[in-house]
Amino acid sequence: KPIVAVVGRPNVGKSTLVNRIAVSREAIVHESRGVTRDRSYHEADWNGRDFVIIDTGGIESVKSQDVFAPRIREQALLACQEADVIVFVVDGATGITDEDEEVARIVRRVDKPVFLIVNKKDDPANEQDGLWDFYALGVGEPRPLSASHGYGTGDLLDDIVACFPEEEEANEEEDMLSIAIVGRPNVGKSSLANRLANKKRSIVSDVAGTTRDAIDTVIQWKGMPIKLVDTAGMRKKSQVHEDIEYYSLVRGLQAIDRADICLLVVDATVGVTEQDQKVANMAVDRGCGIVLLLNKWDLIDSQQKRDEVMASLSKRMAFAPWIPFINISALTGRATDKVLAAAVKAAEARAQQLKTSELNNLLAEIREGGHTRSEKGRRLKIQYCTQTGSKPPALSFWCNAPDLVDDNFERFMENRIRDRFELTGTPIRMRFRQKN
Ligand code: GDP
Repeated sequence: KPIVAVVGRPNVGKSTLVNRIAVSREAIVHESRGVTRDRSYHEADWNGRDFVIIDTGGIESVKSQDVFAPRIREQALLACQEADVIVFVVDGATGITDEDEEVARIVRRVDKPVFLIVNKKDDPANEQDGLWDFYALGVGEPRPLSASHGYGTGDLLDDIVACFPEEEEANEEEDMLSIAIVGRPNVGKSSLANRLANKKRSIVSDVAGTTRDAIDTVIQWKGMPIKLVDTAGMRKKSQVHEDIEYYSLVRGLQAIDRADICLLVVDATVGVTEQDQKVANMAVDRGCGIVLLLNKWDLIDSQQKRDEVMASLSKRMAFAPWIPFINISALTGRATDKVLAAAVKAAEARAQQLKTSELNNLLAEIREGGHTRSEKGRRLKIQYCTQTGSKPPALSFWCNAPDLVDDNFERFMENRIRDRFELTGTPIRMRFRQKN
């Protein structure tokens, strides 16, 4: 998905603008220490194009005045590096400040489309007042806008979306199984990638272009080509120490968007963390298959350590008990030969067409078992089920009263379906729809 970064000094209205554009106020990644403290990113769409919008506004909650400048610089820089399109917001009510000029210096250095937004132009009648002063920032034509009233945002979005790269067309490469290796820094992603690529040294020795370009590596497995997505991102370590974690998260999620299956690498000596859980959650949301790898198993040398890892696994992955896991060591090679087999198996499950007759036999059994939902004299009746999508399998249940379906019932149905069909490693989607 294309990424739009909203940058600017504090209090110019960045978050107001982002909230207006984003689908919801909720950040894709929930706040957690050291990860998204200063930047949050949100899902958005306009004219049928989905994109991600980064808000660098979190920085404004920092109390100490004297740390503003360097941190603004740093956030603006990182956001600009990630983005495809930059929205630079200034305050139309105050004119240019030193901090605006600082941000402009960063923005000017990045060779990407920039929109200079002069915010707080709440009254279209005097939108031109002082507008042209902002030309001095050297980032192009200033555009008046009111983030709080919404005025000007539609035109801005039209122009932003027009800058996005063309949507990828289907080609033969699309058919190739693509696998993303994701996980927190230092869990052993690069080591694993090298193992899978069967090379001792770094898999991408001659990187062309800039570091933000994703580099994929195609490997052969049992005569089958498999694409390892964004192997360049594994090598790239952010210069800013505290951002390594965040950087690898963003990079990982971008890779998940382009992958059929993700290998979620966990450091077994640390256990499955909250962040691993978030990544798994987001892979599920995006319909990506998952195989969990407990790496550094060579260091798990006591029953107690084994118990601890397994406890963290069952705690964090309880929401998706269908995720398979393998204990591996990228260092010694333990069980790494099983990794691609598990990924391919998950990919097959994900691409599956479930037989309509079997689905409906299952429904009949559930009906006979008396499992249903009732409320206020109404009783849920599911007439039939069909698969309406693939990769991952999407099922539609046609019923009399979809509103009676609650989370528990949905989970019950999912478990029954998983008991019946081989769906290890793949999320599934279920929709309960009104049948007249
Ligand atoms: P990345 O940041 O996830 O790509 O992690 P790296 O592949 O760079 O590995 C981080 C560190 O962990 C390096 O020092 C590796 O040698 C080490 N490492 C990776 N896999 C294993 C493993 O299975 N066992 C042990 N003991 N160390 C490992």
